[in-house]
Amino acid sequence: MTNLPPLREVIAAHGLSASKALGQNFLFDEQLLARIAAVPGDLTGRNVLEVGPGPGGLTRALLRAGARVTAIEMDHRCLPALAELAEAFPGQLTVIQGDALKLDHDLLFDGTPYAILSNLPYNVGTALFTRWMGGEDWPPNWTSLTLMFQQEVAQRIVAQPGGSAYGRLAVLAQWRGTAKLAMKVHRSAFTPPPKVMSAIVHVTPAAMPEGVVAAKLEAITAAAFGQRRKMLRQSLKGVPGALDALETLGIDPQRRAETLDVAEFVAVARKLPT
Ligand code: SAM
Repeated sequence: MTNLPPLREVIAAHGLSASKALGQNFLFDEQLLARIAAVPGDLTGRNVLEVGPGPGGLTRALLRAGARVTAIEMDHRCLPALAELAEAFPGQLTVIQGDALKLDHDLLFDGTPYAILSNLPYNVGTALFTRWMGGEDWPPNWTSLTLMFQQEVAQRIVAQPGGSAYGRLAVLAQWRGTAKLAMKVHRSAFTPPPKVMSAIVHVTPAAMPEGVVAAKLEAITAAAFGQRRKMLRQSLKGVPGALDALETLGIDPQRRAETLDVAEFVAVARKLPT
């Protein structure tokens, strides 16, 4: 195994005090990082996109697992530490300084498939997740998402119908993907520790049901869960064609959003006029 200095030493040597504004909570436990890197399976020779490598804790675990990593980091202070990693793993690591929200990720891999792993900054986490899951082109070029979220958000992503956690995020993640809670991560594992617990979610894309309905599905779930305590006949009033769709499908308009499973939402979206 390549000998690298402990992460705490890297942070000290490069003066990387965690910035609140950039959502920085670093992981130093190399065993934990190796377990996270193992979630998507064997990474030997595989392309990986890592968003927000920071001082490179997860990055070194990915490199040790044999991945070819392209990492996007916004904080220029982290670049020297990442350059040292690139030197230790020749030809395996490319670092791009920039905002992951503004870059076309597919372009970075020339159309070849890649796994995405990230200890996401919480403030951009859901925005990136929505973008990765919401693309019109399906199946996507990414092969899996392995992402750190606040535990409460992770639970909303994997939620099943019937509870208060079930909503737009669950439908978005599950209508053409399989979403699993891969592991919980205690707040004390981070430096500095965030206020809440975290969890890793693993999503693999599933075959897309025929027809592109992403935008319609988004309109339906936004309206339905926007007034989640109301009956569908009330909450879907403003979505043209939605009440007719319920009738055609035999879905009782007196039901509330959280009782509809993902397949029912997709069926309603399909019936909406274009
Ligand atoms: N991966 C490291 C770890 O596990 O210790 C750092 C995780 S820290 C929660 C999030 C990292 O994402 C920070 O290094 C931060 O600078 C970076 N970051 C924040 N917003 C970003 C963005 N929009 N694009 C790319 N990186 C971003």
